Amino acid sequence: MTNKILVVEDEVSIATLLQYNLKQAGYDVIIANDGLDGLHKAIEEKPDLILLDLMLPKLDGMEVCKELRMKKLDIPIIMLTAKDDEFDKVLGLELGADDYMTKPFSPREVMARVKAVLRRSKVINNSQEAEQSSGEKSYHIGLLNVYPDRFEAFLDDKLLEFTPKEFELLLYLLENKNRVLTRDQLLSAVWHYDFAGDTRIVDVHISHLRDQIEENSRKPKFIKTIRGLGYKFEEPKV
Ligand code: CA
Repeated sequence: MTNKILVVEDEVSIATLLQYNLKQAGYDVIIANDGLDGLHKAIEEKPDLILLDLMLPKLDGMEVCKELRMKKLDIPIIMLTAKDDEFDKVLGLELGADDYMTKPFSPREVMARVKAVLRRSKVINNSQEAEQSSGEKSYHIGLLNVYPDRFEAFLDDKLLEFTPKEFELLLYLLENKNRVLTRDQLLSAVWHYDFAGDTRIVDVHISHLRDQIEENSRKPKFIKTIRGLGYKFEEPKV
Protein backbone atom coordinates (compact mmCIF):
# COMPACT_ATOMS: atom_id res chain seq x y z
CA MET A 1 0.00 0.00 0.00
CA THR A 2 1.28 3.44 -0.88
CA ASN A 3 1.93 5.70 2.05
CA LYS A 4 0.21 9.06 1.95
CA ILE A 5 2.17 12.05 3.18
CA LEU A 6 0.78 15.46 4.00
CA VAL A 7 3.18 18.38 3.60
CA VAL A 8 2.10 21.53 5.45
CA GLU A 9 4.40 24.30 4.31
CA ASP A 10 3.74 27.89 3.26
CA GLU A 11 7.00 28.39 1.39
CA VAL A 12 6.13 27.24 -2.11
CA SER A 13 9.71 26.40 -3.08
CA ILE A 14 10.16 24.06 -0.12
CA ALA A 15 6.72 22.50 -0.55
CA THR A 16 7.47 21.85 -4.23
CA LEU A 17 10.87 20.37 -3.49
CA LEU A 18 9.46 18.05 -0.83
CA GLN A 19 6.58 17.05 -3.08
CA TYR A 20 8.94 16.22 -5.92
CA ASN A 21 11.26 14.12 -3.79
CA LEU A 22 8.49 12.29 -1.96
CA LYS A 23 6.77 11.43 -5.25
CA GLN A 24 10.05 10.20 -6.66
CA ALA A 25 10.34 7.93 -3.64
CA GLY A 26 6.90 6.49 -4.38
CA TYR A 27 4.72 8.28 -1.83
CA ASP A 28 1.37 9.93 -2.43
CA VAL A 29 1.67 13.58 -1.53
CA ILE A 30 -0.91 16.11 -0.36
CA ILE A 31 0.06 19.76 0.07
CA ALA A 32 -1.40 22.36 2.40
CA ASN A 33 -0.15 25.95 2.44
CA ASP A 34 -1.31 27.07 5.85
CA GLY A 35 -1.99 25.53 9.25
CA LEU A 36 -5.77 25.54 9.01
CA ASP A 37 -5.76 23.90 5.61
CA GLY A 38 -3.21 21.43 6.96
CA LEU A 39 -5.43 20.53 9.89
CA HIS A 40 -8.46 20.00 7.64
CA LYS A 41 -6.53 17.88 5.19
CA ALA A 42 -5.06 15.81 8.02
CA ILE A 43 -8.57 15.07 9.32
CA GLU A 44 -10.08 14.36 5.89
CA GLU A 45 -7.26 12.46 4.27
CA LYS A 46 -5.82 10.64 7.30
CA PRO A 47 -2.26 10.62 5.94
CA ASP A 48 0.33 8.15 7.22
CA LEU A 49 2.72 10.95 8.08
CA ILE A 50 2.73 14.74 8.27
CA LEU A 51 5.67 17.00 7.49
CA LEU A 52 4.65 20.07 9.42
CA ASP A 53 6.28 23.47 9.16
CA LEU A 54 6.45 25.35 12.46
CA MET A 55 5.85 28.92 11.25
CA LEU A 56 2.65 28.89 9.28
CA PRO A 57 -0.10 31.38 8.48
CA LYS A 58 -3.48 31.00 10.25
CA LEU A 59 -2.45 28.22 12.64
CA ASP A 60 1.16 27.50 13.54
CA GLY A 61 2.70 24.04 13.61
CA MET A 62 2.43 23.67 17.38
CA GLU A 63 -1.28 24.50 17.27
CA VAL A 64 -1.85 22.00 14.49
CA CYS A 65 -0.03 19.37 16.55
CA LYS A 66 -2.13 20.14 19.60
CA GLU A 67 -5.41 20.03 17.67
CA LEU A 68 -4.55 16.70 16.11
CA ARG A 69 -3.70 15.14 19.46
CA MET A 70 -6.88 16.54 20.99
CA LYS A 71 -8.81 14.86 18.23
CA LYS A 72 -6.92 11.66 19.05
CA LEU A 73 -5.44 11.47 15.58
CA ASP A 74 -2.20 9.62 16.12
CA ILE A 75 -0.55 10.50 12.85
CA PRO A 76 3.24 10.65 13.10
CA ILE A 77 4.54 14.18 12.67
CA ILE A 78 7.92 15.50 11.63
CA MET A 79 8.23 19.19 12.48
CA LEU A 80 10.14 21.44 10.10
CA THR A 81 11.79 24.36 11.79
CA ALA A 82 14.05 27.19 10.74
CA LYS A 83 17.34 27.79 12.50
CA ASP A 84 16.15 31.05 14.04
CA ASP A 85 12.77 29.80 15.16
CA GLU A 86 12.36 29.91 18.88
CA PHE A 87 11.36 26.33 18.99
CA ASP A 88 11.34 24.34 22.17
CA LYS A 89 11.97 20.85 20.87
CA VAL A 90 11.02 19.23 24.13
CA LEU A 91 7.66 20.99 24.05
CA GLY A 92 7.24 19.99 20.40
CA LEU A 93 7.89 16.36 21.23
CA GLU A 94 5.58 16.66 24.19
CA LEU A 95 2.81 17.88 21.91
CA GLY A 96 3.25 14.76 19.89
CA ALA A 97 5.76 15.54 17.18
CA ASP A 98 7.77 12.40 16.50
CA ASP A 99 10.79 14.10 15.11
CA TYR A 100 11.96 17.48 13.93
CA MET A 101 14.28 18.79 11.27
CA THR A 102 15.98 22.14 10.94
CA LYS A 103 16.03 24.00 7.61
CA PRO A 104 17.86 23.95 5.35
CA PHE A 105 17.77 20.19 5.00
CA SER A 106 18.76 17.97 2.14
CA PRO A 107 16.06 15.92 0.41
CA ARG A 108 18.05 12.82 1.25
CA GLU A 109 17.95 13.62 4.93
CA VAL A 110 14.19 14.16 4.75
CA MET A 111 13.63 10.84 2.97
CA ALA A 112 15.68 9.01 5.59
CA ARG A 113 13.67 10.52 8.44
CA VAL A 114 10.36 9.89 6.69
CA LYS A 115 11.27 6.25 6.23
CA ALA A 116 12.42 5.88 9.85
CA VAL A 117 9.27 7.44 11.30
CA LEU A 118 6.98 5.37 9.06
CA ARG A 119 8.80 2.20 10.03
CA ARG A 120 8.47 3.00 13.71
CA SER A 121 4.78 3.80 13.48
CA LYS A 122 4.18 0.53 11.63
CA VAL A 123 5.89 -1.43 14.35
CA ILE A 124 3.44 0.05 16.83
CA ASN A 125 0.39 -0.48 14.59
CA ASN A 126 1.30 -4.05 13.86
CA SER A 127 1.66 -4.87 17.52
CA GLN A 128 -1.79 -3.36 18.10
CA GLU A 129 -3.26 -5.57 15.41
CA ALA A 130 -1.52 -8.66 16.68
CA GLU A 131 -3.66 -8.88 19.80
CA GLN A 132 -5.62 -11.94 18.70
CA SER A 133 -2.51 -14.02 18.35
CA SER A 134 -2.40 -16.61 21.08
CA GLY A 135 -0.16 -16.31 24.08
CA GLU A 136 -0.51 -12.60 24.54
CA LYS A 137 2.51 -11.16 26.26
CA SER A 138 1.93 -9.26 29.47
CA TYR A 139 3.69 -7.89 32.52
CA HIS A 140 2.30 -8.03 36.04
CA ILE A 141 4.31 -6.21 38.62
CA GLY A 142 2.63 -5.32 41.86
CA LEU A 143 -0.60 -3.61 40.87
CA LEU A 144 0.74 -2.74 37.46
CA ASN A 145 -0.51 -4.80 34.52
CA VAL A 146 0.83 -4.08 31.07
CA TYR A 147 -0.33 -5.61 27.78
CA PRO A 148 2.11 -4.63 25.03
CA ASP A 149 0.08 -6.13 22.19
CA ARG A 150 -3.02 -4.23 23.14
CA PHE A 151 -1.07 -1.10 23.92
CA GLU A 152 -2.78 -0.98 27.31
CA ALA A 153 -1.66 -0.68 30.90
CA PHE A 154 -3.66 -0.80 34.11
CA LEU A 155 -2.87 0.13 37.65
CA ASP A 156 -5.12 -2.13 39.64
CA ASP A 157 -8.21 -1.79 37.41
CA LYS A 158 -7.60 1.73 36.27
CA LEU A 159 -6.70 2.14 32.61
CA LEU A 160 -3.63 4.33 32.29
CA GLU A 161 -3.20 6.86 29.52
CA PHE A 162 0.11 7.05 27.77
CA THR A 163 1.34 8.59 24.58
CA PRO A 164 2.94 6.06 22.20
CA LYS A 165 6.39 7.21 23.28
CA GLU A 166 5.62 6.93 26.97
CA PHE A 167 4.33 3.43 26.40
CA GLU A 168 7.41 2.48 24.44
CA LEU A 169 9.57 3.81 27.24
CA LEU A 170 7.59 1.86 29.84
CA LEU A 171 7.99 -1.33 27.82
CA TYR A 172 11.69 -0.80 27.48
CA LEU A 173 12.02 -0.29 31.23
CA LEU A 174 10.00 -3.45 31.85
CA GLU A 175 12.05 -5.49 29.43
CA ASN A 176 15.12 -4.37 31.33
CA LYS A 177 13.72 -4.71 34.82
CA ASN A 178 16.25 -4.33 37.62
CA ARG A 179 18.88 -2.97 35.27
CA VAL A 180 20.22 0.54 35.49
CA LEU A 181 19.64 2.35 32.21
CA THR A 182 21.40 5.58 31.41
CA ARG A 183 19.51 8.48 29.85
CA ASP A 184 21.57 8.08 26.68
CA GLN A 185 20.71 4.41 26.52
CA LEU A 186 17.03 5.24 26.85
CA LEU A 187 17.29 7.97 24.23
CA SER A 188 18.80 5.70 21.67
CA ALA A 189 16.57 2.73 22.51
CA VAL A 190 13.26 4.55 22.56
CA TRP A 191 13.87 7.56 20.34
CA HIS A 192 16.26 5.68 18.05
CA TYR A 193 18.76 8.46 17.62
CA ASP A 194 20.10 11.04 19.94
CA PHE A 195 18.58 14.46 20.26
CA ALA A 196 21.98 16.08 20.21
CA GLY A 197 22.41 14.78 23.73
CA ASP A 198 19.23 16.39 24.98
CA THR A 199 18.32 13.96 27.71
CA ARG A 200 15.66 16.27 29.19
CA ILE A 201 13.17 14.52 26.97
CA VAL A 202 13.84 11.30 28.90
CA ASP A 203 13.29 13.01 32.24
CA VAL A 204 10.05 14.57 31.04
CA HIS A 205 8.70 11.22 29.89
CA ILE A 206 9.84 9.44 33.05
CA SER A 207 8.02 12.01 35.12
CA HIS A 208 4.84 11.42 33.09
CA LEU A 209 5.15 7.69 33.59
CA ARG A 210 5.55 8.20 37.30
CA ASP A 211 2.47 10.41 37.44
CA GLN A 212 0.51 7.49 36.06
CA ILE A 213 1.98 4.45 37.74
CA GLU A 214 3.35 5.66 41.06
CA GLU A 215 1.22 6.18 44.12
CA ASN A 216 3.49 9.03 45.10
CA SER A 217 5.61 10.24 42.22
CA ARG A 218 7.97 11.93 44.68
CA LYS A 219 8.70 8.60 46.29
CA PRO A 220 8.61 6.28 43.30
CA LYS A 221 8.42 2.57 43.99
CA PHE A 222 8.69 1.36 40.41
CA ILE A 223 10.94 3.78 38.56
CA LYS A 224 13.94 4.65 40.67
CA THR A 225 16.34 7.44 39.88
CA ILE A 226 19.90 6.20 40.10
CA ARG A 227 21.82 9.31 40.88
CA GLY A 228 24.48 10.19 38.35
CA LEU A 229 23.50 7.25 36.15
CA GLY A 230 19.93 7.10 35.05
CA TYR A 231 16.85 5.04 35.90
CA LYS A 232 15.94 1.57 36.99
CA PHE A 233 12.61 -0.21 36.98
CA GLU A 234 12.21 -2.23 40.14
CA GLU A 235 9.70 -4.63 41.48
CA PRO A 236 8.31 -2.81 44.53
CA LYS A 237 9.03 -4.46 47.83
CA VAL A 238 5.96 -5.54 49.74
CA1 CA B 1 6.96 28.75 7.19
